[in-house]
Amino acid sequence: MPDRSLIDGILAGDKRALARAITIVERSDPAARDLLHGVSPHVGGSYTVGITGPPGAGKSTLVDRIAADLRTRGWNGSAQPPKVGILAADPTSPFTGGAILADRVRMQRHYRDPGVYIRSMATRGSQGGLPRSTRDAMKLLDVYGTDVTIVETVGVGQAELDIMGLADTVIVAVVPEGGDAMQAMKAGLMEIADLFVVNKADRPGADAVVRDISAVISWDTRPREWVPRVLSTRALEGAGIDKLVDSIGEHKASSEKSGLLARRRSERRKQEMFEIVKSRVDREAQHIVASNHELSNCVHQVESGALDPHTAAQKVLQAILGAKPQSS
Ligand code: GDP
Repeated sequence: MPDRSLIDGILAGDKRALARAITIVERSDPAARDLLHGVSPHVGGSYTVGITGPPGAGKSTLVDRIAADLRTRGWNGSAQPPKVGILAADPTSPFTGGAILADRVRMQRHYRDPGVYIRSMATRGSQGGLPRSTRDAMKLLDVYGTDVTIVETVGVGQAELDIMGLADTVIVAVVPEGGDAMQAMKAGLMEIADLFVVNKADRPGADAVVRDISAVISWDTRPREWVPRVLSTRALEGAGIDKLVDSIGEHKASSEKSGLLARRRSERRKQEMFEIVKSRVDREAQHIVASNHELSNCVHQVESGALDPHTAAQKVLQAILGAKPQSS
């Protein structure tokens, strides 16, 4: 049974209830499933922005500035300042330490502002880059009532590509030096970026990087609903942030009009379903192997090389299909 008082707390905009709920989904235990089931009718409105790039590109600084800009200039034509949620998914930081410290530093800027909620999620060791718990935490922020949710992740591998499946607008941040832009292109970030940000434009070489990225974008002559934009910022001073936020709004308007947003969101829902299936099959497999002597033996035989993995996997799948789900 979902904890009704916790759900009511989140719906009422109680930060402590939200924090507790995010901790529950991070643990990914049965209580998390009940909770997510309980909140699902209330998920809706939040617009999600993903920002990725190499460590040190200035993502946290950019996110802080974007949040501040949204809070002062508004969002989506509303007179009310939007409620902003920030999730920093850091695959490199250990479970405590880095993430918590970063939170404190960020909090200093926004701690007086009840309209900004910030949370770091250490994702080291999670399968598939951004963990499912990030997606779940985004849902909770949505239910809590954020108008814009910003997810920040270090671009170290699959994680930044996964963000594509999570965000309505994807920002890739690079810096002028260090060949970041070339790395980003190689890593496939070119394919997923809606907006490129060359941050630290106070440093030499920024204009050249903007030109290089723009050139690469222009080589792709396929008809596209949205041609990625390249912007430059000096996040430390807050320069270029207004243009960046305006571009997020323009990308939103464009993808609403073209139907791209609806397609991305339906793709995201489908992906989510398959991820749930995968993780449940995985759990069932662990459970059934642990509780079935014959299957445990099969696993030992696979380990020793006496049995091939395909044959053993077939037996495990058959056992799962023949059994009633245990760890629903
Ligand atoms: P992240 O690792 O991508 O989140 O990067 P941070 O936001 O932590 O920034 C890394 C460092 O770059 C920090 O010391 C920032 O103060 C600095 N920084 C951020 N933006 C700028 C900028 O526009 N110009 C310069 N020179 N430094 C910046």
